[in-house]
Amino acid sequence: MAELPDKAEHFIDWYLEAVEVAGLTDKRYPVKGMNVWTPYGFQARRQLDGLLIRGIEASGSRPVEFPTLIPQTEFQKEKEHVKGFDAQVYWVTKGGETDLDIPLVLRPTSETAMYPIFALWIRSHKDLPFNVYQIVNTFRYETKTTRPFFRIREIHFFEEHTCQLTDEAAAARCQENLATFQGIAEALALPYVASRRPDWDKFPGAYYSIALDLPVGGARTLQVGTIHHYRENFSRPYEIRYEDLAGELRYVHQTTFGLSERLLGATVAFHGDRKGVVFPSSIAPYQVVIVPIVSQNSGPISTDAARTLADRLRAAGVRVYVDDSEERPGAKYYLWESRGVPLRLEIGPREAAEGTVTAVNRLGQKQRIGPGKLEDGIRQALVEYDQALAAQARESFQKAFSVAHRLEELQDSTTVRIVSWCGNEACGHQIEQAIDGAVLGTPEGPLPIDPGSPAECIACGKREATRWVLAGRPL
Ligand code: ZN
Repeated sequence: MAELPDKAEHFIDWYLEAVEVAGLTDKRYPVKGMNVWTPYGFQARRQLDGLLIRGIEASGSRPVEFPTLIPQTEFQKEKEHVKGFDAQVYWVTKGGETDLDIPLVLRPTSETAMYPIFALWIRSHKDLPFNVYQIVNTFRYETKTTRPFFRIREIHFFEEHTCQLTDEAAAARCQENLATFQGIAEALALPYVASRRPDWDKFPGAYYSIALDLPVGGARTLQVGTIHHYRENFSRPYEIRYEDLAGELRYVHQTTFGLSERLLGATVAFHGDRKGVVFPSSIAPYQVVIVPIVSQNSGPISTDAARTLADRLRAAGVRVYVDDSEERPGAKYYLWESRGVPLRLEIGPREAAEGTVTAVNRLGQKQRIGPGKLEDGIRQALVEYDQALAAQARESFQKAFSVAHRLEELQDSTTVRIVSWCGNEACGHQIEQAIDGAVLGTPEGPLPIDPGSPAECIACGKREATRWVLAGRPL
């Protein structure tokens, strides 16, 4: 069977085909940019949601769910926010045959749905910090070419909204969110860089925005999440106030943390290869697929052994599928590799008799497991697979960045670039023009590679107050 297109040369073609052969969505829905989640894709998404829920709840956040429709009057209270989203919202203007008195917005994000209610819930300093999250679908009228999971119109969205006592407490919450994301990214074996976006690229209404970007080949980057510090930008128009110890009314300082199904797209984009998708075991719909090898005169021994083992693995909490279809073993191997299953177990008559299995992981590493307690050996094989995947990911992450010293070098960038910048917006735009992309910002932590001290600004040559920034081509 044919390999997928070359990932480095034809990234988008490769990506679309990888999603297609894995059967994660059905693209035939008649509204552009709205995914149909197949059973297989939905299971991956559900595992991903589980990771997000466990991560955010461990950091002291509680679930809520707000309505999908937002009245125009609430939506328009924060000026910058409205300006940023106006061209992207879907409007509901009729109820049956009647024009609505107040048109409704299909939420593009939920600040304007939540904050009028937060104003009612928060009264005293004792109510703070107030940390809640929801996982809901949001809607944005995307005009560019849509791509499954990357750029879509109905987005499966995770959003945390918090209210804090002070500016410092809000900044600290942003750092806690970064730590939470670190855990999520590790579970997905995804290396990333967290950058403070330049002012001209921050979220509409934010004081500052930290974005989480992944290099996905060449100079391309994929923003998989954002953390925003709002200060009092929303609490003032929405009048979210608390009484402090002295009985004074003060505005809360707010933060948000947003992630989406782009994380699934990023997992496909970052780990995938010529055969298709490569899932880390954390979100793989099936962590293990068992293929019984049946020979003409061996009878049902392999299939019986496969089913018994599957039951034992399920009881041990492993997500497992037995492929006992009529296909040839080779076709089954190909199918499950393209769908990204971490571990394939082959059981033939000899393995069945011995109580062993032949295990081949998605990176091609092969071993015999058993006899003895197969559950432990298989769990261990999954752990080793995840470690190998993470090591492979770290290696390609390191290679995804390089330093540029002159603007001309940016033009044909084959990596994300690290450049020295004076902080001036005009220089920033020159960098963006030269790379035909964006200034991603200043990393929150150490740079992916160590370029030494920043030199003169790559655009204007000034030496004062320069800092390293990342520049790339966001997808
Ligand atoms: Zn400059």
